[in-house]
Parts: sequence; C-alpha cells; structure tokens
Amino acid sequence: MSQLKRILVTGGAGFIGSHVADALLAAGFEVAVVDNLSTGRQENVPAGARFYPFDIKSNDAFDLICSWKPHVLVHHAAQMSVRVSVDDPVMDAQENILGSLNLFEAAARAKAEKIIFASTGGAMYGDQAPVPAREQDRAMPECPYGIAKLAVEHYLHFYQREHGIIPIRLRYANVYGPRQNGLGEAGVGGHLYRKISGRGAAGHQWRRSPDQGLCLCGDVVAANLLALEYNQAGIFNIGTGKETDILTIYLRLKEIIGSQQGPVHGPAKPGEQRRSALDSFLAQEKLRWQPQISLIEGLTRTTQSFQERFGSGGKR
Ligand code: NAD
Repeated sequence: MSQLKRILVTGGAGFIGSHVADALLAAGFEVAVVDNLSTGRQENVPAGARFYPFDIKSNDAFDLICSWKPHVLVHHAAQMSVRVSVDDPVMDAQENILGSLNLFEAAARAKAEKIIFASTGGAMYGDQAPVPAREQDRAMPECPYGIAKLAVEHYLHFYQREHGIIPIRLRYANVYGPRQNGLGEAGVGGHLYRKISGRGAAGHQWRRSPDQGLCLCGDVVAANLLALEYNQAGIFNIGTGKETDILTIYLRLKEIIGSQQGPVHGPAKPGEQRRSALDSFLAQEKLRWQPQISLIEGLTRTTQSFQERFGSGGKR
C-alpha cells in the first residue's frame, strides 16, 4: 500500500466517491477528484483533494490522467439511475461505457497499476438469480445501467490483459448513508427520507419497490481501502447477504423520524430487479471485508445526517 501514492477518484463530489476520497486522504494518499457536478456537490469534495470539474468523457479528463499519472484510478463517476438508463440507453452507454473507456485509455497510457471500479450487485444478476446472489452466478442484468456496468467489467479484463492494470470490480448492493442524494432514482434511504419527511416533489406516494439488499456507505468505503491492498484481479459482491423489504425500511425510518405518514403504494419501476441480496463470501475471504454496521444503526446515523442537513421539520 505504501507504494501507491497518487489516487484519482472519479465521482468524488458524489455520495460514495466523496466518502472514499475522505478515507484515502485520511490514510495518507494524495487524492485528485474528477467530477462534472452533474449530481455531485463541490462541498462534498474534501479540502485536501485536488478538484477538477471535468467530464469523464472529456479530453480534459484524459489529459489530466496522462499528466498526473495516478497509480490507482478509483472510478465512481456514473449515470446511476436505472430509470434514466431504461428511457435513454444510448445516453447511459455514452456516460457509463464510453466515459469509462476514455479514463481507462488514459490510465493505460499513464501506466496506472490498478483500477477499482464501482460496479453494481443490485442490478447485475437479474430476476432469475438465487438470493443471495454469488459472484459466480450468471450475470443477467435487466436494465441498460446494469448491462453497461457488466460491459465495463469485461473491458477491465481487456485492460488487464493488454496493459497489466489490475482490475478490481466491487459490485455494490444498494448503498445508503450520509450525503446520499435523496433526489435520485437510486438510494433507497434518501428517497424514503424525503417522502416520509414530506420533502419529495412526488408528494407522499412511492412505488412498490423490490426487496433491497442494503449496505451502509462506511462499509463500502472500507471495501475500497481493502481493494487497494489486494493485488490481484477480482470481482467482489459488497453487500450484507440480507434482503430487507421496503416496508421494513419505511417503518424503521418512520420510527426514527417520528412521522405519522402512511404508505401509499404505486406500480414497480421498469428495469428494476424484483429482489436483490448479495453473498459477499469472496470479499470476506479475499479482501477480509466484513459489513460492520447493522441496518438499524446505519439508518439511525443516516437519518441524523439528513436531519442535520435539511432540518428535522418543515420544507427545505
Ligand atoms: P452519485 O450520483 O452521488 O455520484 C456520482 C458522481 O459522479 C456525482 O458526483 C456526479 O456529479 C459524477 N458524474 C456523473 N457523471 C459524470 C461524468 N460524465 N463526468 C464526471 N463526473 C460525473 O452516486 P453514488 O451513489 O455515489 O454512486 C457512485 C458509484 O457507485 C456509481 O458508479 C454507481 O453506479 C455506483 N453504485 C452506487 C450504488 C448506490 O446504491 N448508490 C449501488 C451500486 C453501484
């Protein structure tokens, strides 16, 4: 780990990437963040990181990687809405496939040693997979977002063969935690918080959602740090192995917030898997990763952070 000095984090102004950047700085790495602020916020970028407001598809991002020569690329920037990917698969592929390839081409030229890629577990295995799904189960993504993530995983194998870059693909479950963008399509915690606390533009209705495999962001950050120390190619599910139905999450959040709101169900969203939970046996065995924080503790911490950010009552 001590030989790895410069780390470029894409999406480091977003929810997960900014927490990863925080942890990397705390561990003593030199960190640069590339983020076009399409969903991220500049205030999320840690003060100790260099910040470049570039699009991952741009020549600016390409040139930066070629000149700064990061040892590791930690790639979190993405179009990450399943719904948007269903409505506009071309745009999704431009962001998530071509944007990634622009970075990987530059990383190859800069002789980067490793790429850690934020992939998806929740949208990877499809409805036919066993629950919880293991990495060796067949990937059959149901939506363009998952298909693009799988394609990028395969491209990383090419960059390993052709350029010797170690690829580590972390297939995250549904991640929740502080700084989560409650406006987005993904991110069940932030989404429900907005609705239960009456802040969502969509009123108090929500759709009938699939059972969620949830993972607290702090545990996901820990997986990224462990992946830095792991010097072999890998695909790792990062999840707790448990399914939590959306009503349970709703009831927990309602209890924590002290809301009187009742649930009103709507239809399922197109492209979403009906169930998802990830078996993280390989991550536990190879990365020595273990989820540390219980759902109750995680939801409580997350809700507190939302209340600090938005206030505990009234509209924003
Ligand atoms: P986020 O939207 O908070 O972060 C994504 C960041 O990428 C944002 O800051 C955004 O501004 C930036 N970005 C988007 N397109 C860009 C582009 N073309 N150029 C430069 N920057 C760009 O989302 P997140 O929840 O932090 O997700 C981070 C990564 O983890 C994504 O790759 C996502 O697919 C993956 N992931 C997230 C979850 C989850 O539940 N949140 C689950 C599985 C995988």
